[in-house]
Amino acid sequence: MTTIDLDFDRQHLWHPYTSVTDPLPVYPVVRAYDVFLELEDGRRLIDGMSSWWAAIHGYNHPVLNAAVTSQLQQMSHVMFGGLTHQPAITLARQLIALTPEPLQKVFFSDSGSVAVEVAFKMAIQYWAALGKPAKNRLLTVHSGYHGDTFAAMSVCDPVTGMHSLFRGAIQEQYFAEAPACRFHDPCSDEDIADLSIKLERHSRNCAAVILEPIVQGAGGMRIYSPHYLMRLKELCDHYDILLILDEIATGFGRTGKMFALEHAGIVPDILCVGKALTGGYMTLAATITTDRVAETICSGTPGLFMHGPTFMANPLACAVASASINLLTSYDWQSAVERLASGLRQGLEPCCSFSHVADVRVLGAIGVVELEKPVDMAVIQRLFVEKGVWVRPFGRLVYLMPPFIMADRELSVLATAVCDVVSLLNDPHE
Ligand SMILES: *Cc1c(COP(=O)(O)O)cnc(C)c1O
Repeated sequence: MTTIDLDFDRQHLWHPYTSVTDPLPVYPVVRAYDVFLELEDGRRLIDGMSSWWAAIHGYNHPVLNAAVTSQLQQMSHVMFGGLTHQPAITLARQLIALTPEPLQKVFFSDSGSVAVEVAFKMAIQYWAALGKPAKNRLLTVHSGYHGDTFAAMSVCDPVTGMHSLFRGAIQEQYFAEAPACRFHDPCSDEDIADLSIKLERHSRNCAAVILEPIVQGAGGMRIYSPHYLMRLKELCDHYDILLILDEIATGFGRTGKMFALEHAGIVPDILCVGKALTGGYMTLAATITTDRVAETICSGTPGLFMHGPTFMANPLACAVASASINLLTSYDWQSAVERLASGLRQGLEPCCSFSHVADVRVLGAIGVVELEKPVDMAVIQRLFVEKGVWVRPFGRLVYLMPPFIMADRELSVLATAVCDVVSLLNDPHE
């Protein structure tokens, strides 16, 4: 077995959101299969993260492996300008069939952040084509996360997204309070009041509202009421503002519906998907819009949509995404997610009684334990690895989003590890 050069890693590699002078430990992984990550020292960890929402079928899946290798024999990549290919066409057909009927036009890109940037450009070009160039700002809610590129960052939560650090370099957008009504609650006038006021106040300059439907992911792991989304949709229609739903985290079954928007039965003008799109195999995202938006954009100057990534519609990524969607729809994934939901509810229940736990919440294959105080990442990460599980908390949040194929036994080990580690954090010596 080769030895992973951790020294070189420490000296030369940047990991997500880290310091190069005071790096946190990283664990060398040599193999991943089923729901397991195998470390170089032979330890096998149960994966509670699906590699950030993506690996819904687990790792090293024979069907997905076959899709990549078979596409590899044909072509790994060709430019999408002036050329097309079956993997892109097949995948677009699947996405159009899976998403609400009005969504008909698919733009492929290489990552979630770029899919969000593309959505903004669509919204701005749409209003420009209608002779309303002043409608070029975005409105969103607090506690959101939409990616790390500049426009995406401008609609991330201002505090966790560190807006003050980038003041002057990022466009200032409009922010309303985060949705406060919980999943099973109705949405009262008060719950929607701030959003409603801001939409009215800024409708002249607002191109679109963007938010994550039902579950706000990396901005706070908050789960909110479908009724909020229904009211938001009515307000957007009333004030003539486009609605962009960012399903990059929630898409492909994670919340118990294929797309979280189905909980509310609403149709956005623009939808962003990514992450689990390829089952976690390759980087690929898509921005999907209606005929109305697409045709309006193309009726304006310069008559084109102004975006075109080098690796647009990469055939390997499209082929594995197609296979992943076929895999998902070939079995009763709803029952699998529902089974994980009840396992998470049961398994995380003990955390409810800890005084240092603020909240425990579950929706679909997402389980969240919110603590009163932020965790010490290096300490808590080590504790989880010692218990044989891969869980990566952030801030005050310890959360699980396992691959859909996880068996009850592994899920129970995972949830028990979370309860044990969380209970240790209450130790006054910590
Ligand atoms: C992860 C994420 C993004 C950004 O996707 P990247 O592929 O990391 O650029 C955008 N929106 C949401 C909701 C996400 O969870």
